[in-house]
Amino acid sequence: MSFDTVIMVDWSGGNDRGATPKKDAIWTCIARAGQAEPPLYHRNRQIAETYLQDTLTAEQTAGRRTLAAFDLCFAYPAGFAEKLTGSDDPLALWDWFAARVTDTPGLNNRFDLAGQINTQFPGIGPFWGNGRPNHDVPHLPRKGRDRTGHDLPEHRATDLAAPGAFSPWQLSGAGAVGGQVIMGLPMLSRLRHHFGAALSVWPFEAPAADIVLAESYFSLLPASYLTGHAIRDAAQVALYARAFSALTPNQWQTVLDVVPTAEGWVLGLGHQDLLKGAAMPDLTPPPLRNDCFAMPQGAHWTPVEDALAHLRAQLSPITATETIPLAAAAGRILAAPVIAARSHPPHANAAVDGYAFAGPLPDGPRTLPLHPGRAAAGDPFIGTVPDGHALRILTGANIPDGTDTVVLQEDTAANDTHIALHGPLKQRANARKAGEDMTAGSDVLPAQRRLTPADLATLAACGTGQVAVHKRLRVGVLSTGDELRAPGAPATDGQIFDANRAMLLADIGRWGHAAIDLGIAPDDRPKLRTILDDAADRCDAILTSGGASAGDEDHMSALLQGTGTLALWRIAMKPGRPLALGLWQNTPVFGLPGNPVAAQVCALVFAHPALAHLAGAQWPTPQGFSLPAAFSKSKKAGRREYLRARITDGAAEVFPSEGSGRVSGLSWATGLVVLPDAAAQITPGTPVTYIPFASFDL
Ligand code: AMP
Ligand code: MG
Repeated sequence: MSFDTVIMVDWSGGNDRGATPKKDAIWTCIARAGQAEPPLYHRNRQIAETYLQDTLTAEQTAGRRTLAAFDLCFAYPAGFAEKLTGSDDPLALWDWFAARVTDTPGLNNRFDLAGQINTQFPGIGPFWGNGRPNHDVPHLPRKGRDRTGHDLPEHRATDLAAPGAFSPWQLSGAGAVGGQVIMGLPMLSRLRHHFGAALSVWPFEAPAADIVLAESYFSLLPASYLTGHAIRDAAQVALYARAFSALTPNQWQTVLDVVPTAEGWVLGLGHQDLLKGAAMPDLTPPPLRNDCFAMPQGAHWTPVEDALAHLRAQLSPITATETIPLAAAAGRILAAPVIAARSHPPHANAAVDGYAFAGPLPDGPRTLPLHPGRAAAGDPFIGTVPDGHALRILTGANIPDGTDTVVLQEDTAANDTHIALHGPLKQRANARKAGEDMTAGSDVLPAQRRLTPADLATLAACGTGQVAVHKRLRVGVLSTGDELRAPGAPATDGQIFDANRAMLLADIGRWGHAAIDLGIAPDDRPKLRTILDDAADRCDAILTSGGASAGDEDHMSALLQGTGTLALWRIAMKPGRPLALGLWQNTPVFGLPGNPVAAQVCALVFAHPALAHLAGAQWPTPQGFSLPAAFSKSKKAGRREYLRARITDGAAEVFPSEGSGRVSGLSWATGLVVLPDAAAQITPGTPVTYIPFASFDL
């Protein structure tokens, strides 16, 4: 049990607070793995609610489990809900308030509604604290002591346990929370209905959904922990977001383990010491801060092998077939097995220049009479050589009738009528058998094979003039990012040259596909959509780089998400997370990372086999070799690592920097060293797996 993201919300019951950040307004803060983003100010509830809904959607899209905690009571003291709704279900009370609260940035009905509610209870009713100085509100007393006999507890059990907690009946005065509860429950109700089964409300529901809402209270930690912000509300949301996001899965288990009651419970109450440990800024550094690829606790990471198995299972060949001349077939993929039209060699023939006779020849010197005539390649001897005679023969000539054995010219002495030679010589020495290489009608090469230059010779030798191959897979390459310029074009300081497109187009060419340059797309969703629409028409598959994570400018994953086909994989590999996969109008899209090193490693590991598979080829598994390491490295468990490497003096040397933007390291390298998913301690001499780039068909 844990959360990738914690959103802490300081709610408010008042009116619009203006454009400049102020205290006693709505503040929110997002934190992940013990790191808080800057707190955000929201001038009114409408803006804050939109922000929350959008942010929760984005987190959900990115596959991050999120806890959103609000400093407002999720329920009232026992007996209140039942009286108003007929049920003690606090969530039904949320809906009850949602139906009755009216709210605009400048005006809301919280005091009037509280007064109306009071009329339903004996005596004066529970609510008090008319906050409007010159305006009496019917049935809402100014002072708490003015109330009598409403029969409800003043506090919930959780408020009694929380040091200094206010009663939700109190609507005004310093520290009062009643107003923000009335003005918060309708917002919670709407969020809950919007996200449906993807959201649960703790502790009333099990905290198992993608999004969990909980009640927080900002006096669980010492005030001395509040640092870094002039505005206390901002410091509070930052502190509590950071503290909760630093909890380990076991600590979450502890914190969330309460007996649910209809009054609810404050998140973390009773576990203040544990929260202090998580919050203590200087003593508990956030886990693995210096490692940007650290895996957030509880997130789901897909091992490389699982991702490959999934690709293999989900994709099927999409290319039609065509028949082309053999000479044009290098690099193409056979659509059907090739059967030998003729044996190779078609006849028994001589492997050397010399003399043919009927073998074997016994030990000792012999003289054989020469038969007139000659056998040469392409010019066979017509007739039968008489027993005991020899015939002049040249390499490649069919073995003449009456003979089966050839003696090498250099091993003989000859005149016009005889040859002399030494035995022994085995029968059929220096003769190639008919069909010893390939026999007519046998399988020569299987379907799904990508034809090598040597394959063309093999196919030619057994009489294949034309081959049925898959049509070339058309693969588009698109770079995304406002910062990108074509190499050589004028570029300002903030701009960089598009390194990925030329590389990926060249990869695709080497892999035998038809590469289609789709250019550079800006970080602009409508424009990207138009580019993808056009690309889907012209391409069988699309490789994009950049914009694949879940950040603000990561439009590729957002668009694929919109198609409902996105799988955003956090792959347990370095470099290279994340990898976005989706279908755009049925065309597979591989959203590679933006960093050139990560883009290339992901292209080699995932796009290479997946495109081969789509193109009708057998799934390629790159051939690696075990070499002694020429480096030291202590590798943590969890992710497979790919290091730029080359062979020096028979050992695998790795590029000194693992930085994923260091594209020159790709040129330095001749291949990749792959370190296993498990932890590894590597010292010079430890065997490691080295995969040359050639094994990726580069
Ligand atoms: P992104 O995935 O879009 O956040 O990009 C990650 C990093 O890779 C950023 O530093 C980008 O500027 C960089 N990047 C993205 N696309 C390319 C590209 N085509 N060529 C070189 N760098 C890129
Ligand atoms: Mg980008």
